[in-house]
Amino acid sequence: MAFLEIVDLEKSFGNVRVLKGINLEVEEGDFLVLVGPSGCGKSTLLNTIAGLEPISGGEIRINGRVVNDLAPAKRDIAMVFQSYALYPNMTVAGNIAFGMEMRGIPKAERDRKVAEVAKMLQIDHLLDRRPSRLSGGQRQRVAMGRALVRDPQVFLFDEPLSNLDAKLRVEMRTEIKRLHSSMGTTIVYVTHDQVEAMTLATKIAVLKDGVLQQFGTPDEVYNDPANIFVADFMGSPA
Ligand code: ADP
Ligand code: MG
Repeated sequence: MAFLEIVDLEKSFGNVRVLKGINLEVEEGDFLVLVGPSGCGKSTLLNTIAGLEPISGGEIRINGRVVNDLAPAKRDIAMVFQSYALYPNMTVAGNIAFGMEMRGIPKAERDRKVAEVAKMLQIDHLLDRRPSRLSGGQRQRVAMGRALVRDPQVFLFDEPLSNLDAKLRVEMRTEIKRLHSSMGTTIVYVTHDQVEAMTLATKIAVLKDGVLQQFGTPDEVYNDPANIFVADFMGSPA
């Protein structure tokens, strides 16, 4: 049994079918990257895993448990979005601790977690700053910090680096890879950037128009593409 199982997943908005019978199995510790062109359904798929969108058919299982009707907060998942809106009037520490405060975690433990995560993300010297005085990359780290303190079973990332410039994108990519190797968490990561996918993934899923085109290791998808679309999209050697 895989850690995260997606079985015949269907999602429609009104009568528009956006996800068409998706099947995926993610093992614990996998770094699954979902790639595909804009509008193919990547965010929708991530949102259904997070429970932010109800599904129209099929099943999502986490650790053997069907989570179809489970509220997002009960899924043991943390999500990092592209638009990582931070609370402008709170410090970095306040932003990272806010969710824990809402969940009633005592101050001593909150402080300990904030310190631990800030150190991991190398923002421990910025804890008293407000977001307006941070660079884009630092803000993205704070957004990741907010997700990390939850110790989730699964991390979902929706194009977390697309608002950063090229240099920072490469730097944060390395950072995310390092976090994955050191923590061994299961990650599902959305990007439309095939280079990012090849660098980060242990498994790649290629989507087109809500249909899964291929699911495999970066090597399989790149060197043995299932069809012309995958070959073109991944820039596979001819
Ligand atoms: P991607 O993240 O791959 O760019 P999305 O998952 O955001 O794609 O969108 C897939 C399709 O679903 C698009 O055609 C989009 O217009 C449609 N869609 C997404 N969210 C909604 C919504 N809340 N209501 C109606 N249509 C939506
Ligand atoms: Mg999207």
